[in-house]
Amino acid sequence: MQSSGTVPEATRGWLELQRDLGGPEVILDQPLTGKALAVESGWRKGAPPIPGPGMVVSLPTLTHLGDPSWESLESVAALIAKCRLCPLCEGRTKTVPGEGNPSARLMLVGEGPGETEDLSGRPFVGRAGELLDKILVSIDAPRSSVFIANVVKCRPPRNRAPLPDEREACRPFLRRQIELIRPNVILALGSTAAEALLGVKKPLIELRNRVHQWEGIPLIVTYHPAALLRNPNWKRPAWDDVRIARQLLDRDR
Ligand code: URA
Repeated sequence: MQSSGTVPEATRGWLELQRDLGGPEVILDQPLTGKALAVESGWRKGAPPIPGPGMVVSLPTLTHLGDPSWESLESVAALIAKCRLCPLCEGRTKTVPGEGNPSARLMLVGEGPGETEDLSGRPFVGRAGELLDKILVSIDAPRSSVFIANVVKCRPPRNRAPLPDEREACRPFLRRQIELIRPNVILALGSTAAEALLGVKKPLIELRNRVHQWEGIPLIVTYHPAALLRNPNWKRPAWDDVRIARQLLDRDR
């Protein structure tokens, strides 16, 4: 395909994702001039049906409600910036509280900051983030429309998975962020996020393809984008997962 300045962002994202998925050659029989190709036939074509119910998470009432430090995303980020509740604070350059649209309908939860995120203070800005951006554009939910957070807000050494105590220390921050945003759908990226949100230790494969409920919010589990970079065979099932999330967003409109 010739590159063209007229290719809309959503179309470009979808085509790039098709290429990344390793799927059949993309054949274009109409000019790439409108949104229709990517958004109308792109993600909907062959999208899986919404799967059945999964786990239900209900949490006890928070004790700090009414405390102004917990009443806005900014104040929670300020608490995170000062946090010294676990050893991850020793090695951090910047905390990575999360960012995005405070009224997002879709909220994504990853594992924890990597090197680029630790340096910039922003979530998913490395290679995994680039892939995530493409996936989001492909379901017509660009990064600017969503909120992205992590289970832990400081970088674990050598990008290892956060330890149980580290997740526990960060748990109130993520919970409060979700409560303040109150998204229509949560997408858990990878097993650390899925286990932290659902409170179970199970293989990702058992948690995918179900509509879980986190305090009444539909929650979909998919692969972490970094895992998709390591194992491209998972891109296709991940593409199904995000299209399920997309359908739940449309259903809730
Ligand atoms: N991986 C994550 O889980 N989160 C980030 O913010 C970046 C990479």
